[in-house]
Amino acid sequence: MRVIPKDQVIFSFNPHNPNRYEVDDGETFWVETDDCYSGQIKDKTVLRPDIDISIMDCSVGPIGVKGAEPGDVLCVDVEDIQFAPQGVMVTSPGLGVLGNRITRADTKIIPIRGGFAFFSDTIQLPLTPMIGVMGVAPARGDVHCAIPGDHGSNMDTKIITIGSKVYLPVSVPGAGLALGDLHACMGDGELSGTGIETAGKVRITTTVIRGLALKRPVVETADSIYVIASAATLDEAIPVAVEDMTALLMKKKSLDFADAYRLLSATCDIQISQVVNDAKTVRVRAPKKNLGIESFYP
Ligand code: CA
Ligand code: ZN
Repeated sequence: MRVIPKDQVIFSFNPHNPNRYEVDDGETFWVETDDCYSGQIKDKTVLRPDIDISIMDCSVGPIGVKGAEPGDVLCVDVEDIQFAPQGVMVTSPGLGVLGNRITRADTKIIPIRGGFAFFSDTIQLPLTPMIGVMGVAPARGDVHCAIPGDHGSNMDTKIITIGSKVYLPVSVPGAGLALGDLHACMGDGELSGTGIETAGKVRITTTVIRGLALKRPVVETADSIYVIASAATLDEAIPVAVEDMTALLMKKKSLDFADAYRLLSATCDIQISQVVNDAKTVRVRAPKKNLGIESFYP
């Protein structure tokens, strides 16, 4: 199986990045990634203010998927996520929701082994593997990999995990897929500004879907479908996600707007993915079983 190494990276998603790798439609492959600090924090003596932030938040790629054309949808099946033997969590003044409470920078190295993150001698966390950044080239603009949007990127959404399918709207030939920013553990919100940031590798299968209209990322898990929206504020992101889910219910259940809107209110949850990036990310969750929906696609 092909392994895409981490030496070709992008720092922003744009339509003009040349594809650095090419895979087949339907191919399964591994992608290796550094952590979000590009491996600069190897031990606790390296503090967040000391590192070169210009090489933070890079993503491995772009990976061109043969046959993908603007207007198509790229489905990324996340099959496995494996981690390096340690992760890092920094705190630094201004970082995260209560960054004003942090007076000095501090770095915590967190060993990872046997399916656990060893946060301290007494606190061992089962891993909750996730991919922080996964995106495709947008139709226009030049969007830093730290900023999520309709093209995906830094959504920091914990349900982008092993077993999930991530649907992304294709805007350029080949799609220009890139990913990185793996987290061994992260809770909704990413409240202190970081997950357990860890290098590693992911095994994915990329499939091109034609004839499916999609404006923004959708994630499907075994029991749920999520629509994901990012905007400058949560208040702006919420109605975008709610509109997308209402449209999805109209289509899947053959309902008019008012009835789909009621069904959404009766069954779906608004959830926060992250509140610490330059754009905030929310998702609306639809429970597949209760709604009698087998899958997002077909
Ligand atoms: Ca992130
Ligand atoms: Zn991260």
